[in-house]
Amino acid sequence: MTLPTDPAGNLAALIRCPSVTPIEGGALSTLETMLKPLGFSVERPVFSEDGTPDIENLYARRSGNGPHLMFAGHTDVVPVGDETSWTHPPFAAEIAKGEMFGRGAVDMKGGIACFIAAVARHLESKGGLKGSVSLLITGDEEGPAINGTTKLLEWAVAKGEKWDASIVGEPTNPDALGDMIKIGRRGSLSGSIIVNGRQGHAAYPQLADNPVRGLMTLVEALLHPVFDKGTKDFQPTNLEVTSIDVGNPATNVIPEKATATFNIRFNDTWTAETIQAEIHNRLDEAAKRKKYRAGKTTPVDYELVWRDRPSHVFLTRDERLIEALIGSVKAVIGRKPALSTSGGTSDARFIKDYCPVVEFGLVGKTMHMVDERVALADLETLTQIYQHFIEDWFEQGAS
Ligand SMILES: [Zn+2]
Repeated sequence: MTLPTDPAGNLAALIRCPSVTPIEGGALSTLETMLKPLGFSVERPVFSEDGTPDIENLYARRSGNGPHLMFAGHTDVVPVGDETSWTHPPFAAEIAKGEMFGRGAVDMKGGIACFIAAVARHLESKGGLKGSVSLLITGDEEGPAINGTTKLLEWAVAKGEKWDASIVGEPTNPDALGDMIKIGRRGSLSGSIIVNGRQGHAAYPQLADNPVRGLMTLVEALLHPVFDKGTKDFQPTNLEVTSIDVGNPATNVIPEKATATFNIRFNDTWTAETIQAEIHNRLDEAAKRKKYRAGKTTPVDYELVWRDRPSHVFLTRDERLIEALIGSVKAVIGRKPALSTSGGTSDARFIKDYCPVVEFGLVGKTMHMVDERVALADLETLTQIYQHFIEDWFEQGAS
């Protein structure tokens, strides 16, 4: 039997599965076919929850004596958009000028294809592994992420699974392979401020209470002063007002209500709880200010509603894991990657509750775009980096 040692072959097979969230599209079956000959036991639990589509996931483990490394990722992809805009069809895995085209090429079927090739090459050359390797693959990363990684982790832990380290294969490199390893993420929180006023005629403001004036006062308090100047490992905390809604079609009516929605990305100066408290304080203080309020004496009447669950900030401090990955990038490409906590959230935010986690994958430039593609040379290089990492990490673990 031929082992899946060729990352481009692995990736082509995966791209040809149209696995747009929440559809499995044959992607997990394809993985199962690749992993079984490598000695992995494969399970494919389906998770459901009211109001969300059922999602199939995959957990594969190859057991050995020694530490346990988990590779995490997703086979679902975002929609292709206008298919006619693609130079090559999005699910055909066509190659042109040294690049393979297809939805998921870099985000992140490519990362999975390389990791499997790395394990296959390692087994082919060494005959075994000094520990256990598992793949935790969800079909629900690009969607609501409810029936995916969180449930898969809980499911695996309930079966007695434990991991010593995890690597997430998301595309972490902004421009070239070896640019960046992600060792943490900022936290994220969203909320809405609803200001209640009193409707009235725009010509008689003394008889009304314009909520837009109150909302301006409150929004200003969220934007100034800055929350912090950043820390050793993180960029400054940033709040963006993402929407302001009044919903008033008339020009001569003072509206009754005004709403602002915001998202804040916070660093390790804060926890979700302390940043929430800071925002509450700022709003309570600002509500008493007279600026913009045209003679009103009562504080701004507002409610603050937090939306969704917060994502917590985290920083991985496992030197052995980080050094093994830096060393592997250096050994294969001769460059030292930057360690970063920038960017949006990923499933690493869930894994960090179970074991130290880092993220390293392909170049993300074309992710979610028309003509998503990956250089075949990058697939080969990433496979070599992963293989080097597997060897190094288990070698150190065995000593
Ligand atoms: Zn992704």
